[in-house]
Amino acid sequence: MTSLPVIIAGGGIGGLAAALALARKGVASIVLERSAELGEIGAGIQIGPNAFHCFDSLGVGDEARARAVYIDSLRLMDAVNGEPSATIPLEEDFRQRFRNPSAVVQRADLHGVLLDACRSSDLIDLRTSHAVTGYRQDGDSVQIHCKKRKTLQGCALIGADGLRSEIRQQLIGYGEPRVSGHTTYRSVIPTEQMPEELRWNAATLWAGPKCHIVHYPLKGWKLFNLVVTYHNDAREAVAGKPVSKEEVRQGFEHIAPRAQQIIEHGKDWKLWVLCDRDPILNWADGRVALLGDAAHPMLQYFAQGACMALEDAVCLGHMFERHGEDVEAALDRYTRQRRVLILENPGMRGESKITTSLYAGLQLVMPDEVAPAHRHSQSALRFVLDGSGGHTSVNGESTIMEFGDFVITPPWAWHDHGNHSDTPMIWLDGLDIPMAGLFDASFAEGYSADEQPLRRQAGDSLARYGANMLPVDYQKQDLVSPIFNYPYARSREALETMKQQQEWDSYHGLKMRYVNPVDGGFAMPTISAFLQLLPAGFKSTPYRSTDATVYVATEGSGRTTIDGQVFEWGPRDIFVAPAWKWLVHETEAESVLFSYSDRAAQQKLGFWREQRG
Ligand SMILES: Cc1cc2nc3c(=O)[nH]c(=O)nc-3n(C[C@H](O)[C@H](O)[C@H](O)COP(=O)(O)OP(=O)(O)OC[C@H]3O[C@@H](n4cnc5c(N)ncnc54)[C@H](O)[C@@H]3O)c2cc1C
Repeated sequence: MTSLPVIIAGGGIGGLAAALALARKGVASIVLERSAELGEIGAGIQIGPNAFHCFDSLGVGDEARARAVYIDSLRLMDAVNGEPSATIPLEEDFRQRFRNPSAVVQRADLHGVLLDACRSSDLIDLRTSHAVTGYRQDGDSVQIHCKKRKTLQGCALIGADGLRSEIRQQLIGYGEPRVSGHTTYRSVIPTEQMPEELRWNAATLWAGPKCHIVHYPLKGWKLFNLVVTYHNDAREAVAGKPVSKEEVRQGFEHIAPRAQQIIEHGKDWKLWVLCDRDPILNWADGRVALLGDAAHPMLQYFAQGACMALEDAVCLGHMFERHGEDVEAALDRYTRQRRVLILENPGMRGESKITTSLYAGLQLVMPDEVAPAHRHSQSALRFVLDGSGGHTSVNGESTIMEFGDFVITPPWAWHDHGNHSDTPMIWLDGLDIPMAGLFDASFAEGYSADEQPLRRQAGDSLARYGANMLPVDYQKQDLVSPIFNYPYARSREALETMKQQQEWDSYHGLKMRYVNPVDGGFAMPTISAFLQLLPAGFKSTPYRSTDATVYVATEGSGRTTIDGQVFEWGPRDIFVAPAWKWLVHETEAESVLFSYSDRAAQQKLGFWREQRG
């Protein structure tokens, strides 16, 4: 690890969590907070199960749990007629499913838990009255400038300085946040002042035209948190200004007395005019990165801003652990990790696996974005789910990707992705990461430039190897198909032509496998991929095999019954069938399913078997 500390600007929930996450990985940090004291103003906050996972990872799970109130439901009320609209239970089923509860907690308590843990760490240096004004970085370190203070030097700078972040301003620009026009009034009252009939163990939201009211218990039921929001098109940002009850009442005349009385019971109301920012693509530049509200503020309707800041912090810690001295790589991976959605199998929680041997994730590549060139020992497939015109380059050739294209990046081949179209692209990533891990054979390397030089024109490999011919003297060179894009248009056309024969296999409909044209084997050494057409009203005969399979519906709709459990699907839905479970597909409309599994590996190793019911 580097000898210089990481400097963190901002001692809010995000900044303290980041310091703790780094300390857990042996990385020293200095937290610079501009206020004279570290703390949070005392309103409540809702925290989802994801926050509790983070607390555990930060080593403060027990302390955080001790301060939380565990609510039983989210209650949605109609503010106009005063009647219930819906209830979302958060009890045992919910807690088991997400392996943690949903709760509410006082902000100061939550901040205090993190602060106590930071204070007891030798690796964390907390400094108040340090307002960061800017930074300068060279290749080896970052110099951090503070108002009326000496310049500090760190190996990295994390901007956790909130919505109006100075670090963000220097890194990205874009100036002041956007005023949302939503005015929020907050009050915390003793529980005995809350109307008895509304003392519910729930986060309750009364929704009415241009307004809503939220309330929930806090601090072991000693307090109630009241949050009243009015969409009054306010134009100026305000934070924590004391206001009279008369002012709060305005805009709520049209709601039911049952809801109005909540305002009457509040006292010492304070006003905030909420602000927001548009999402940005990149939160890092060299040795500087953003975290929490500085990176991605969100309006309170999601009740997730603080939870996201905690998740950022945990991810940052992992990336420092993984990339050691290479701070720039750690920050780059941190920002990218926070944009990939790993599809977790609920049967294997926390393992980043979709099956025991395969990984699946959804990747978003925004216009003009490049995923820098790299290579790794794992085989990877991309299956395009949305967008058009992005590209993947492999071994000096680039291919444009369209919906439904199946694209391969072979093990240890240089590859990069980019999107020079004007719409975002989303694709499914399928990799054999768990398999490579099993063999302790996981390696990765970055290329010296973002994009590799191109040596062949687009479409060269498809022309050379995908036209039922091979170059006359071609000798098989490696384990992977020399074609790296199997366009959906061509595969779909093949199914459409074959459909005319009406020869449907009772188990699979019309199912084709993607092949390596050189030897007729699967296109990849460890992963097999398939495309199948099922006619409307089809019901397959039960079938099972040892290769757990990930399915993507590209067209049509239907349901698949796996081991007696029914999964409905429509276009772009993804579902997974575990190994050796009986499976039946039924369609409503003519449907196309793409799928991938580890059959290629299992067949080579002699494990694979199937059974037809
Ligand atoms: C009304 C409302 C309700 C919300 N409810 C929820 C909820 O229920 N659940 C949830 O998860 N989230 C909720 N949020 C969002 C949540 O409060 C924020 O996302 C979270 O506090 C962000 O933490 P942070 O550490 O990134 O930023 P902040 O909390 O803003 O902390 C930034 C820190 O940096 C310091 N600072 C600023 N500039 C500098 C500088 N130049 N130098 C040094 N220090 C600096 C500040 O003093 C502050 O201490 C809500 C937000 C609002 C407004």
